[in-house]
Formats: sequence, structure tokens, C-alpha cells
Amino acid sequence: ARRPDSIGVALVGLGYYAGHLLAPGLQLTRNCHLAGIVTGTPAKIPEWQAKYGIADRNVYSYDDFDRIADNPEIQAVYIVTPNDLHKPLALRAAAAGKHVWCEKPMAMNAAEAQEMIDACRAANVQLAIGYRMQHQPSTMQLRAMAKDKPYGRMLKVSADAGFHAYDDVDPANKPWRLLPQNGGGAMYDMGVYALQGARYITGQEPVAVTARSEVHRPQLFEGVDETTHFTLEFADGLVAECSTSFGRDMNTLRADCERGWYELSPFQTYDNIKGRTSDGKLIEDEGVLPHQQALQMDNDALAILEKRPPRVPGEEGLRDMRVVDAVYASAREGGRRIV
Ligand code: NDP
Repeated sequence: ARRPDSIGVALVGLGYYAGHLLAPGLQLTRNCHLAGIVTGTPAKIPEWQAKYGIADRNVYSYDDFDRIADNPEIQAVYIVTPNDLHKPLALRAAAAGKHVWCEKPMAMNAAEAQEMIDACRAANVQLAIGYRMQHQPSTMQLRAMAKDKPYGRMLKVSADAGFHAYDDVDPANKPWRLLPQNGGGAMYDMGVYALQGARYITGQEPVAVTARSEVHRPQLFEGVDETTHFTLEFADGLVAECSTSFGRDMNTLRADCERGWYELSPFQTYDNIKGRTSDGKLIEDEGVLPHQQALQMDNDALAILEKRPPRVPGEEGLRDMRVVDAVYASAREGGRRIV
């Protein structure tokens, strides 16, 4: 049952992820509920209102969104738009006094991420990033394994996240994920999963990165990366070989250690995360796993209700954006970058 003080959430940007994962997830949550929508497409409004019982007073456009400041039914704003709009919308939500939940990648670069953190701090609202894997119990077992080292010292890590898509796109009418001005490109989209994976499987922060990008379909990928390979170096000398792509299906996170290996494959799907080890053990969730996005939003709402920091705060998104900046700089200009 839903708590009486459940957090009212407004979804901003009613696209695939909001419609297929977050809105259904918000029907399962206990600590928060879908209270409002912000959309630039009036045609979407009737269906959303009918499906989720959203009152007229809780429907906004990007133009009148700042009026949300006066709406006591909405406490958190969840930004699910193309990546270039994350920062401007986060700043407006914070200025309206609303807690901010923001999809990955957090922003276009580290400077924007820092601005978002500063704005939320100044407004005294929470800022949480939508890294759903950090709410998934089996995934987070990797963090304990990085500490306990059940297979000895880690020798090598690999993290690969990508999918093959966009063959049928009309080059004259590209989706935003293929447009540089919207924050398109594989590194922004799927690369952050490989980066996150490399960070949580090692339990370490990268200190340097070397990257290179490849484009096989130049008519589609102009000014955005189709495939990016990046090597992360950690302080103790450990190296993670990572790759991300819009041209190749890949979904594996793996650690090779002195006395064996373990991996999650797939490691970043919405369900069926599968983990195994060299000696035939499984890394899995206990019991039935709840809806990933519902779990994430319930955790983030509870942090608001209990007035403590969210599990994945803005600072965590900022750490990744620093690496993403370095990956793009290295891929563009060559050379190794200190992070
Ligand atoms: P979609 O293109 O399906 O939806 C984005 C929505 O943003 C649109 O439907 C539109 O909603 C709104 N929008 C506002 N301005 C623009 C614009 N200029 N061009 C296109 N859309 C615009 O994208 P996704 O839902 O797949 O992704 C949205 C965000 O969520 C991204 O940041 C992405 O990285 C993240 N994401 C995260 C996932 C995860 O697992 N954590 C999975 C998938 C996506 P409206 O018409 O209502 O204004």
C-alpha cells in the first residue's frame, strides 16, 4: 500500500522511457506516485491523463513549467528528455523548489553537472541520477566482491555496453540520439553503463583514460560517435577495457582475477541480469526482483522522506561526466587524459 505522505512525481518528457518504464513503475511504488506530466506534445496529454488519472492542474508544457513552484501535489520532478535538456530543466525544477531526479547521462559535460549540483544545493532540494543498476541487489554484490576479493587480486576488467540500431533511419530526419546538439552518441547513451560497471566492479575511481571512436555508417553518425573504445586506468595499475556502440550488441561486465573470474551478462538490462563465476556459482537476486525502476524511485523517494542523501546523488553523475569529457577529448584529439 502507498504511504499517505507519498512523494508526488512529475515526469518531464513523455517518450519511450517515461511511457514504458517509469510510468508503469510508478504504479508499483509505495513511497511515490505519478502526480503530474510536463510535455511539449499536447497530443500526448489526453491519453496520459486517462491512463493515469492526472488532473488538469498537474499538466504542464515546457513554457509554463515554472508554475510548478505553486503546486503542492508535486514534490519531485523526473527529467526524461534528450540529454541537452537535462541541465536547463534541472535548474528550472530546482528554482521551483522541487527535488530533481535526472536521467543518465547527467548532462552534456562536467561543468553542466556541477551547475546542477550547485543549483540543487542552493535551493535545498535533492538531486538523484537515474542509474537504476545501483539499486539492483545482485549488481551491487559486485561492490562487496571488489572488497572481499573471493578470486584474489583483480588482473583485468572489461565492460561492454551497446546495441545495433538505426539502420532504417532517414539521414534527413535523425532521432535525437544521432544529433550532436542533443547529446547524441554512443558514449553518452550506453558508454556510461560500461563506465559505471567498471567503477562498481573494481570499487575504484579511474585516474586516466585513453579512447578512440569509430564510425562505420558515416551518413548516420556525423559529429556523434557510433562506437567508442576506452581504457580506464586505476591508481593500483589495474586497467578496464571498455567499449560502447550503436552498431554492435554487447552487454557484459567481467573481472578476471588471480584465481578465477566472474561476470554479469547481461549486466544492464531491465530484468534477467545474470551473473556467474569461474567455479560455477551464480550471482543473483534473492527472491523475486521488483520492477527495477519502481525500486529506484521508491529508494529515491524514501531518501526525500527521510531527509537523507539519495543513493545515487548528483556527485556520482558528475564523476562520470568528468570521465565522459576525457573520453571524448581523447577520442577527438588522441592521447591519454588524466581524470
Ligand atoms: P525519447 O526520444 O523516447 O523521449 C524523449 C522525450 O523528450 C520526447 O518524447 C519528448 O517528450 C521530450 N523532448 C523534449 N524535447 C525534445 C527534442 N528536442 N527532441 C526529442 N524529444 C524531446 O527518449 P528516451 O525516453 O529513450 O530517453 C530520454 C532520456 O532517458 C535520455 O536522457 C536517456 O538517456 C534516458 N534513458 C534512460 C534509460 C535508463 O535505463 N536509465 C533508458 C532509456 C532512456 P514530449 O513530447 O512529452 O515533450
